[in-house]
Amino acid sequence: MHQTQRVRTFGFLMSLLPLLALTAWGNEIPVLRAGAAMVDITPPLGELVVGGFVPFPANEIHDPLHARCLVLDDGKNRMAIVICDNLGIARSVYDEARSLISKNSKISPDQILMAATHTHSATRAHEPKYRPKVVAGIATAVDTAIQNLVPAKIGWGGVDEPSEVFNRRWHVSQPDIARNPFGGVDAVRMNPPRANAALIKPAGPIDPEVSFLSVQTAKGQPLALLANYSLHYVGGVNKGDVSADYFAIFSQQIGKLLGADSVTPRFVGMMSNGTSGDINNINFRDGNARRYDRYEKMTEVANKVAKRVNEAHGKLQFSEDVKIGSLTRDLKLTMRKPDPKIKAWFREVMGKPDDAEKFHRYEQTYAARVQKLEDGPNEITVPLQVMRIGDLAIAAIPFETFAEIGLKIKDKSPFADTFIIELANDSRGYLPTPRQHELGGYETWMGTNRVQLDASDLITKTILEMMTQLNQN
Ligand SMILES: [Zn+2]
Repeated sequence: MHQTQRVRTFGFLMSLLPLLALTAWGNEIPVLRAGAAMVDITPPLGELVVGGFVPFPANEIHDPLHARCLVLDDGKNRMAIVICDNLGIARSVYDEARSLISKNSKISPDQILMAATHTHSATRAHEPKYRPKVVAGIATAVDTAIQNLVPAKIGWGGVDEPSEVFNRRWHVSQPDIARNPFGGVDAVRMNPPRANAALIKPAGPIDPEVSFLSVQTAKGQPLALLANYSLHYVGGVNKGDVSADYFAIFSQQIGKLLGADSVTPRFVGMMSNGTSGDINNINFRDGNARRYDRYEKMTEVANKVAKRVNEAHGKLQFSEDVKIGSLTRDLKLTMRKPDPKIKAWFREVMGKPDDAEKFHRYEQTYAARVQKLEDGPNEITVPLQVMRIGDLAIAAIPFETFAEIGLKIKDKSPFADTFIIELANDSRGYLPTPRQHELGGYETWMGTNRVQLDASDLITKTILEMMTQLNQN
């Protein structure tokens, strides 16, 4: 109690200190300050683990889930990034957390980027039994990171690690394995059978880059490292386990490699998800892959990526003088609706006797998903966000975004360095490109994808406009 009180008072006094330092000549120069914190958001047992087609109860906590926060303050602007161990969190949950963040924290709610890692071993954040813990956890992580603000320096960079990312959508030569629940056959199959003779080629690219930004105290002690890799998740857990997947193992491992496992305040590693809507960790060409024990594969991936980042970390240039800023914009998107042909198909599906042969094993699931779309709103508003840290831009998109979208934004960005955090500030399903919609496959199916077919073009255009605007400020 006393300890907490003292830390809080100290944090409060720190925030009263002038935000600008004086040089020997009396000119004001901006001083970067940074703070980080992590708060436990492990769900109670019995909550439903989501991520597959059929949810099942959590019966074991393998490793705890966290909300991890980095706050930056350049004397003019203050902004925060919060990465949560979850599959995907609805905007209403994030907004509730925003409203809970202390008024004394002097952070504007729209200057906070909140995102889910997309671990598949987590439970729904909006469930009544769990929601208060997620909301309070996020808010406490931000408040604590602000209390922890100290003069800091920051550097960023990227390194390629192509060996752990694979495009999971394949052109296949066999119509049987490319059926869809709408009574048709796609050109592309998600997660095809490994090393199958029908595999032609992947339907899209990968993004091999591990981007990262590293924050140290002014004296050079590691404070936080935020990484970004376009990998859906790794998995390989026991059924019913709660786990933060490779994201948490990376976060711990990078701290060890940077010699930060016992520093005070505690070093916070963070792994955010890039644009991995069509990317996973399975080498579909390889039919002889060895079997891994539970948690072995995710540990291997995390350690490899952490090693890469640590090697590249040695070349970073740190600066105490960087301009930061954040822009958010709401974008209206039209929802997809079934046409008469699709409605007729699902009437037929639902009219079949239970034991009748199915055209596709998930046709009834999609009958329900399509009905939900039909009954739902005609349009939605999605939050987009861009942060700048010097000549680095971080874009935030609330969908499971295809890799090619991220690659395009990186290519066209007016900033020297750019990465994208997906499933940020909301969770709106998959975001394929129009080209990928034509190819079909799971991620493009109505009900898996829910917004207008050219949504990725609108989002890319808007993000690039926001980047240009932020770059001029
Ligand atoms: Zn997923």
